[in-house]
Amino acid sequence: MSISRVMVVGAGTMGNGIAQVCAQAGRTVTLVDTIADQLPRAMGTIEKNLGRMVKKEKMTDEQAKATLGNITTANDLSAAGDVDIAIEAVLENLDVKRALYADLAPRLADGAIFASNTSSISITDLGSVSGRPDRFIGMHFMNPVPMMKLVEVIRGLATSDETAQQVVSLAEELGKTPVEVNDYPGFVSNRVLLPMINEAVYCLMEGVATKEAIDTVMKLGMAHPMGPLTLADLIGLDVCLDIMEVLHRDLGDSKYRPCPLLRKMVQAGYLGRKSGRGFYEY
Ligand code: NAD
Repeated sequence: MSISRVMVVGAGTMGNGIAQVCAQAGRTVTLVDTIADQLPRAMGTIEKNLGRMVKKEKMTDEQAKATLGNITTANDLSAAGDVDIAIEAVLENLDVKRALYADLAPRLADGAIFASNTSSISITDLGSVSGRPDRFIGMHFMNPVPMMKLVEVIRGLATSDETAQQVVSLAEELGKTPVEVNDYPGFVSNRVLLPMINEAVYCLMEGVATKEAIDTVMKLGMAHPMGPLTLADLIGLDVCLDIMEVLHRDLGDSKYRPCPLLRKMVQAGYLGRKSGRGFYEY
């Protein structure tokens, strides 16, 4: 089955990027969000990204217009029966995802693939409530999606070879490099990345150094393109906290306990770039 019609559910940081790359690759995309002003905001971000690419002569004005023309937005899931794949990119919260799956799964066509962009939640667990565990898979894009090459492809226990092959092919057709990994909390990317970010927040909380110093040490000393606190602001501090909670709970090791300062920042609504303030102001 070739994948030509895509539904992206959740139009936040990740959903708008996933919708953009799918539309750029000629797929028709329905981008869904339940919060009214999230869809125009997502379309504005996509338009701005495409405009930048036209300016840099990475695409023509016609290609940008065609990409935008491939995307339809919706506040509900009524188009779900007509898609070849649904890619879920809602909050990193098992209860929120489970509630969505109960609504979405019965609407999908029998042969459709159901993928989650989850950063850390078990694909086997989500697959069990997807109504199609053999056609359920993790398709973990990186932020910002249009720029980052990697897609982590995660099989649950019941994911079929055919589903994995189709998703690997789709990722390649989107211009990405898929890497297959097994289903463990945080997979590879966030099992390694998030404890580093969490430790940087501990360094800040304990007064080991200023935020600027922590970021500069990791940038200049470890050749990271940005410091861990800047990266946390880009990812979203709520998302970082959610992932640490999953690592802590599911791996059962106290070394993954979320830093109290990270928790406090989220409680204060300092979520990073998306809220205008995190460790830095935007
Ligand atoms: P976000 O908070 O920016 O966006 C989530 C969106 O989902 C919001 O617009 C919200 O309104 C919408 N939503 C919530 N419930 C919904 C529902 N039932 N139906 C439709 N829309 C709904 O979150 P994000 O950063 O884009 O993260 C989305 C997923 O991608 C999470 O699972 C996260 O772990 C994963 N992820 C995030 C990053 C990152 O850097 N932010 C990177 C890779 C993967």
